[in-house]
Amino acid sequence: MTTRFRFIAFVFLVLCKTGTARDSIPSYIITTGKLPQLAYSTGEDRLGSAKMGYIDTMIVMKVIGTVKNLFKVQLSASQYAFIDTNHVQGFHDTILSPALCESWKVNGDDKFDSVSIGLTGRIPYKSWMEINPSRIKIELYNVQSNTNWITQLSTAKAVKNVWYDQRESDVLQITIELVKQQHYGYSIGYNGKSLLVKIRRLPAAADLKKMTIAIDAGHGGTNVGASGVTSKVFEKDYTLLFARELQKVLKKQKVKVLMVRETDTTIENKDRVLWAQQNNPDLFISFHLNSSGRNYVRGVSTYYKHIGYRSFTQGIQKRLLEIKDLKEFGNIGSFNFTPIQPTDYPSCLVEIAFLSNVQDEKMILDPKFRYKVAYQVFLGIKDWVKTWK
Ligand SMILES: [Zn+2]
Repeated sequence: MTTRFRFIAFVFLVLCKTGTARDSIPSYIITTGKLPQLAYSTGEDRLGSAKMGYIDTMIVMKVIGTVKNLFKVQLSASQYAFIDTNHVQGFHDTILSPALCESWKVNGDDKFDSVSIGLTGRIPYKSWMEINPSRIKIELYNVQSNTNWITQLSTAKAVKNVWYDQRESDVLQITIELVKQQHYGYSIGYNGKSLLVKIRRLPAAADLKKMTIAIDAGHGGTNVGASGVTSKVFEKDYTLLFARELQKVLKKQKVKVLMVRETDTTIENKDRVLWAQQNNPDLFISFHLNSSGRNYVRGVSTYYKHIGYRSFTQGIQKRLLEIKDLKEFGNIGSFNFTPIQPTDYPSCLVEIAFLSNVQDEKMILDPKFRYKVAYQVFLGIKDWVKTWK
């Protein structure tokens, strides 16, 4: 039996056993479905608990408890995480032995650099970005190193160095050091049993005309979002107007644009992520309009999840603050909003102004303001691209 076939047979066996596990807490789970993700806590935040990040499907973890709609799962001897019960199938009777980390390969094709990490099983992981110096960090759980060989080919252009550190007897930390300072995106997933990290290269020339920018008009269809304090207009209709305005400005500048939606349709946030991952834009911008129970709260805010993308959101925020009468609400990090969770491309959520504030609402309803916002966002992107090194 080939290793790949053995692995598929194992997964099949696991899935066959799930039927017996319905009524009781399973001993083990395997990740399934759309974008399973690990969380640090059971937090009651409006957007759910803080996320560790998305993980691939067909990863087995031991269940050590249940809380609400979450399974508490063991990552390593000393670490655990939470995962939505909708993202897994449960089963019994498995002993999970640590995987071995084997040989690696670093190379590149015409678009991406790849770091392929050989493993003897699909294990959980998390990743994060570091800046100054710019690095991608990955932590692998329930794994022991047997890595004595890392092939590095000159076709790799974005990766400067790779190495690992066995931090705990079953936790391996991987460092991918980047050539460029600016993070431009990476994806992580399994190719069979090898963990494949694909790293996007920062374009050699900072030329907006060669870029594709995805614009996401928040809400839509049955998800109307916030509503205007005096006008009662829906957020979903105005995010679309701002998105169309930015589309026009960018097209005029010969920038390629992809629209997540162009009509009043319902699209789940997870589907926006899957759509973007498939379309692979250079940048992703999501427009929303804010709302607060305190009617005096007003102003513009930009949001990022990953520190490597903060400079992008700051570039946009700085230009938006040049608009007369638009106040500063802030630049917000570690934000747990689904459309900006992917590491795949730099993303920025813009909460343009507050529909719950009378002065902000008046501006939102003004077509001249909408054009100004779009133009300043364009200038913000242009400024940011110039800072790349
Ligand atoms: Zn919104």
